[in-house]
Amino acid sequence: MLSIGFIHTTGQALPEHTGGRRRPRAFASTGIDVMNFCSACGNPVSQKIPEGDNMVRFVCATCTVIHYHNPKIVAGCIPEWNDRILLCRRAIEPKSGLWTFPAGFMEIGESTEQAAIRETAEEAQAEVALTSLHSVLSLPHIGQVYLVFIGKMRTERFGAGTESLDVRLFHPSEIPWDQIAFTVVREALRRYVDDLAKGEMTLHVASIPGSLAKPRLEDDRS
Ligand SMILES: [Zn+2]
Repeated sequence: MLSIGFIHTTGQALPEHTGGRRRPRAFASTGIDVMNFCSACGNPVSQKIPEGDNMVRFVCATCTVIHYHNPKIVAGCIPEWNDRILLCRRAIEPKSGLWTFPAGFMEIGESTEQAAIRETAEEAQAEVALTSLHSVLSLPHIGQVYLVFIGKMRTERFGAGTESLDVRLFHPSEIPWDQIAFTVVREALRRYVDDLAKGEMTLHVASIPGSLAKPRLEDDRS
C-alpha cells in the first residue's frame, strides 16, 4: 500500500503562472521529440498552430492528423535496507559509470508504482515494497516528470541488472555526491537525506530548471 503523510512543498518554487496565452514554442528550439514524418501516413509533417490551439504542433498536411507530444513520466525508487539505500552504477549512456537510484520511463499499461518496482527489479535485481511517494520533480525543459518512491527491500538480495555495472548499499553519509548521474537524481537524494536528518519524510514537489539540469544531457534515459 502506498501511504502519503502530507503534501509539503520545498526547494525550487513551482513555476509561476503568468496567466493569459502561453507563447507558442517551436519544437526545433527545444530538442524535444522532433518529428519529421507522420506516424499515421508516412508523409512529411510541418510545425504550425492548429486552429483553436495556442501551441505549435506537428501537423500532417496529407492526412491532417495533429501529433501532440506531451511530457513523459519517469518512475524511480530509493530502495532502503535498514539504514542504507541501494544505488546503481549505470552501464549505459547517458552518464555511464555514474550512480543513480533505479528509475526509468513508464510503460503503457502499468501504474507508476508498478513502474518503480519493475525498474528496481531490472536495474538492481531487488524486490521492494513501496512505502511512500517521496518527490515529484518536473523537468519542463525536456518534458519529463520524475515520480520518486521510497521502497523497503523485502530481502537483502540485489545485483547488477543489464543496465548496471555495479549495485551497492550506501549509508546516507557515503552517497557519492560527485558521481551522481543526473541533477534530478541528486535533487531527489538531497531531499531524502534532509528528511532523514529531520526524522520525517515528506512529499516534495519541485521543478528543476533547465539551467540547473543541463538540457539534453538528462534526456533519453531508459
Ligand atoms: Zn499523415
